[in-house]
Amino acid sequence: MGILWMIVIVLLLNGLVFPSLTGRKIVPTDYGTFIEKVDSGLVKTVVVENGQIYFTTQKDGKKEMAYQTGEVNDPGLVDRLLGASSPNSNGKIAFSHIAPKDNSPILNFILLWILPGLLFYIIWKQSSKAFRERMGGGNFMSFGNSGAKIYADSDITTTFADVAGQDEAKDALREIVDFLHNPKKYAEIGASLPKGALLVGPPGTGKTLIARAVAGEAKVPFFAISGSEFVQMFVGMGAAKVRDLFKQASQKAPCIIFIDEIDAIGKKRDSSFGGNDEREQTLNQLLTEMDGFDGRKGVVILAATNRPETLDAALLRPGRFDRRIQMELPDLEGRKAILEVHLKNVRHEDVDLGIVARATAGVSGAELANIVNEAALRAVRMGRKSVTTADLEESVETVIAGAQKKGKVISPEEKRVVAYHEIGHAMVAAMQTHSAPVYKITIIPRTSGALGYTMQVDSNEQMLLSKEELFNRIATLAGGRSAEEVVCGTVTTGASNDIEQATKLARAMVTRYGMSGKYDMMALETVHNAYLGGDTSLACSPETAADIDREVLRVITSAHEKAKKIISENLEGMHKAASYLLEKETITGEEFMKFVAADSKAG
Ligand code: ADP
Ligand code: MG
Ligand code: ZN
Repeated sequence: MGILWMIVIVLLLNGLVFPSLTGRKIVPTDYGTFIEKVDSGLVKTVVVENGQIYFTTQKDGKKEMAYQTGEVNDPGLVDRLLGASSPNSNGKIAFSHIAPKDNSPILNFILLWILPGLLFYIIWKQSSKAFRERMGGGNFMSFGNSGAKIYADSDITTTFADVAGQDEAKDALREIVDFLHNPKKYAEIGASLPKGALLVGPPGTGKTLIARAVAGEAKVPFFAISGSEFVQMFVGMGAAKVRDLFKQASQKAPCIIFIDEIDAIGKKRDSSFGGNDEREQTLNQLLTEMDGFDGRKGVVILAATNRPETLDAALLRPGRFDRRIQMELPDLEGRKAILEVHLKNVRHEDVDLGIVARATAGVSGAELANIVNEAALRAVRMGRKSVTTADLEESVETVIAGAQKKGKVISPEEKRVVAYHEIGHAMVAAMQTHSAPVYKITIIPRTSGALGYTMQVDSNEQMLLSKEELFNRIATLAGGRSAEEVVCGTVTTGASNDIEQATKLARAMVTRYGMSGKYDMMALETVHNAYLGGDTSLACSPETAADIDREVLRVITSAHEKAKKIISENLEGMHKAASYLLEKETITGEEFMKFVAADSKAG
């Protein structure tokens, strides 16, 4: 409101430059008439202002009239006015010239500078407030312009107890916590702790979580920022943010700076095309700041990434992120522990975590957290008051294969092919040694597109896989297609995922595991992004590449042959199991094994 009033007042002030004749009706007229009236001695007053001539005339005591005309370049005008007669008492025309009135300098200043400035300030204030509100802020203090969220000591309630498993990582970080509690103890001896520790591991293994836990345990201020927040639209801003962040941190020491997803700024600097000036400047600033501060002060820098191989070597050298803390995908015990941690937050019955943990090999902590939540949602959907083992099992499948698609209509003929396909997988798995037992077979379609699947669950977790085991795995994958061929006399698109996986395995056997007799221990492929899918690129001559393809085909073909042989030899069990599966839609591994056992005993 204040602003509006000010604008009105300024306009009024501007308009105050009135001719002295206001209040009268002013008749516009031409210059000639004006001169005529001057010469005929009728004019009483003349005021020249802003290029206009205002004048009044009076005739024989009649009412005074006011006129206006444009000023023309008439050097003789003054003489003419002086010489003319007038009805005024002294017989002379009263004339004056009002210089075009400049606004006062102060007014000018206000108009030109303060007002627009004020307007901008208000607009900026409003919009940034709206922005902060939209960002859901308010529970953290935004500090300086670094954009780092700083949490006060008491804000973070996460502790190491919330991080299940990951014992090696916790041990490494405990030392840092102790240092933050008691920097003096270290300073007295002259030991300085690593300035930075780099948390490395696949997505969802709890890197961000454990960093917060360190802050929660240490009870010191925690500056959290994501690497991408440094990368700005304008060159130089990122570097300024880094400077600002370290300045704030050194004032708050002891404290923790946490840079999440550091690969966003820490990528290798190179001279190739598309170099990113802004990123490099930011990285340089980060390197400088890390060198610049005294390690004994108690500022510890944690960073997290799932692409450590892309980081610039300068970041990793001693004195910077010299300690690397590895976060792994949880093993069987780890998965159990993570499920336990998350089950604490949901009401549950006595659930068998062993089964769930065994069924989730290779699943990350984040996905396990998701599984528990899905199970809780399912319990609510089913109108139950607590989570059961069945909820958890179902949500494992939901997370791995997508939700059930009950409404999908599949023709009986297709359903039959799907049943034989899945039983084919199960049969090949069951008839081989070195193969994980079948846990569950289902032909309920899933939202992921799978029309059915066979779940195998290892009773214990293997770190090493032998050549036989890998080969058997490929044979199991081929089991689906083999059943289609042998039993239904057809081949379908249902095997596309099996084909993809089988090829991946066979290729890895040949190119990376040295398991084809032909290439001995030669590495034919290198892996990038080990934590993110693991893309590979060939490292051999084109001739070798062509030969690799032949080798891979050889492995797959012999596995396929093996699968077909197993199925043809167990046709009776196949038929029984498939019709049972068609009837029930979902059967357990135990139910399935009855058919296998009966059959192989018979055979
Ligand atoms: P990252 O940063 O490694 O990608 P996060 O730390 O963001 O993974 O983990 C995401 C979520 O997964 C966490 O908030 C937590 O709920 C769950 N989680 C991951 N690992 C663990 C673990 N070891 N213990 C408990 N929960 C975990
Ligand atoms: Mg993270
Ligand atoms: Zn299949």
